[in-house]
Amino acid sequence: MNEIESLRHQFHQELAEARNSSDLEALKVRFMGKKGPVQKLMQGLKDVPPEQRPEHGKWINDLKEELSRRISEAHEALILEEEGKRLSKEMLDVTLPGRRGFPGRKHLITQMMDEIIGYLSGMGFSVQLGPDIDSDYYNFEGLNFPPDHPARDMQDTFYLSPTMLLRTQTTNIQLRTMEGHKPPIRIIAPGKAYRNETITARSHVFFHQVDALYIDKGVTFADLLATMREFLSKLFHREVETRFRPSYFPFVEPGMEVDVRCLTCGGGGCMLCKYSGWLEVAGAGMVHPEVLKNGDIDPEIYSGYAWGMGVERIILLRHGVRDIRLFTENDMRFLEQFPAV
Ligand SMILES: [Zn+2]
Repeated sequence: MNEIESLRHQFHQELAEARNSSDLEALKVRFMGKKGPVQKLMQGLKDVPPEQRPEHGKWINDLKEELSRRISEAHEALILEEEGKRLSKEMLDVTLPGRRGFPGRKHLITQMMDEIIGYLSGMGFSVQLGPDIDSDYYNFEGLNFPPDHPARDMQDTFYLSPTMLLRTQTTNIQLRTMEGHKPPIRIIAPGKAYRNETITARSHVFFHQVDALYIDKGVTFADLLATMREFLSKLFHREVETRFRPSYFPFVEPGMEVDVRCLTCGGGGCMLCKYSGWLEVAGAGMVHPEVLKNGDIDPEIYSGYAWGMGVERIILLRHGVRDIRLFTENDMRFLEQFPAV
């Protein structure tokens, strides 16, 4: 009896010191294992006088049961305690309002790019992509930009090295295409272009452009006019009236600005057209013979037209957006107004 009591006492002391489940496991093995003191007591039963054996046996069994029970209880308490600690760290405030999910949709600019590409693909143009970082040659020199042309000025162009730059126009794709293909060439080049300009409501350091190029035998100015008119009518969802004004771009000759009759006032004059009755939508012209030569295409045999337009500019005109900076500010209140069609 004394031996049992002292074993019980020792067990409770050690149990109180157990800090985790491996402590409990070790305790269980030490007391209840095959070489443990409880087993030893069981073996000692044979030395007890026969008439006392049932009573001694009961004491030992009671002890065994108690020890097992205490260990299980301690295990459960430990699990509860750990759970409690974890829960107290993981606060769950059921009074918080739920988070609204936003289904993804294409950005307004992507939508417009897709739309433009869709119309032009339907008219026989294929999409040609090119690098955003390009050499001075493909962006300027090969496109007939004189070395002193203002557009090459450090103010306007992001130069990465004396010869490499962020393209200022997706026109950088023209020569690359000519180098890899023989006419007929009928491609559009959609993508980003970069200019070192002050960010204002009307200008940004990058914008999106779609450039078009058509080279074949006998391509004339009439082809350019007809194609532009057809494309712009699709783009503005109405029969548009166009106007072509002489202008200068080094890579075309002659070059021109393309205007459409104001979409808002119909020509009478309004804020959108700055009371001119016309909206400028693109730059265009016949591919300069020097550019064809640089692309290894004989200007005596082939001719072509090219034009380029700013995608943001078209969105400003079509949706009456007043500030180009809204496109990149990720303000849902603005973007939500243009669900994908
Ligand atoms: Zn107007």
